[in-house]
Amino acid sequence: RASGVIVLDSIRAIKNMIDTNVEELGRLDSVAGDGDHGIGMQRGASAALLAAEDAAAHEAGAGSILSKAGDAWADRAGGTSGALWGLALNAVAAEVGDVAAPTATVLASGVTAALAAIARFGKAQLGDKTMVDVLSPVAIALTESAEHGLTARDSWKSAALIAAEAADATSQLLPKIGRARPHMEKSLGSPDPGAVSLALAIDAIAAVMN
Ligand code: ADP
Ligand code: MG
Ligand code: MG
Repeated sequence: RASGVIVLDSIRAIKNMIDTNVEELGRLDSVAGDGDHGIGMQRGASAALLAAEDAAAHEAGAGSILSKAGDAWADRAGGTSGALWGLALNAVAAEVGDVAAPTATVLASGVTAALAAIARFGKAQLGDKTMVDVLSPVAIALTESAEHGLTARDSWKSAALIAAEAADATSQLLPKIGRARPHMEKSLGSPDPGAVSLALAIDAIAAVMN
């Protein structure tokens, strides 16, 4: 399939995954945050899908679709995670460009660039209990899979397992950054909402890869 179609399918899969989990994400964010993570992700992903569909209807390539989707996400989501998702999608877009068939290596570079953009803007370190705790091992896993010549499907399936484990593992961490920071102790035993939603998104992408 053309890369633009895979990108559009991925964004649609993320949107559907978020719709299914919107209440659970809100509940997780209400443990130590302000409870808006589900609704924020839903607004962002829905706006991203509309923008991606519009771009795809105009025969845009993968990078252009991702960039439009990222801008729409950041505009409509609100919240810290919305800004970070916008940056992340634009970082992937810049790396992937509008080539017809991005290689596994290019996709891994895109995810690595997204991690760098999030870290630069948000200043979170590994272990601070944020989405960085999921994106970092995912970027490493995709890079290694590309080096070993795995198919896109196998690479993303294994990345999705790693992401789910990493999101789960944030339960044991204390939040060092963001809105949950003042309520550190309440958050212990509960996973970071942004880490969980990112792992759900990776799983959704894995399901559309073939
Ligand atoms: P807000 O905290 O503004 O209400 P959300 O509830 O939508 O935004 O998103 C919260 C999530 O954003 C957190 O669970 C965490 O994963 C992520 N996050 C917050 N601050 C940062 C940061 N500085 N760097 C990386 N991720 C962050
Ligand atoms: Mg919140
Ligand atoms: Mg908020």
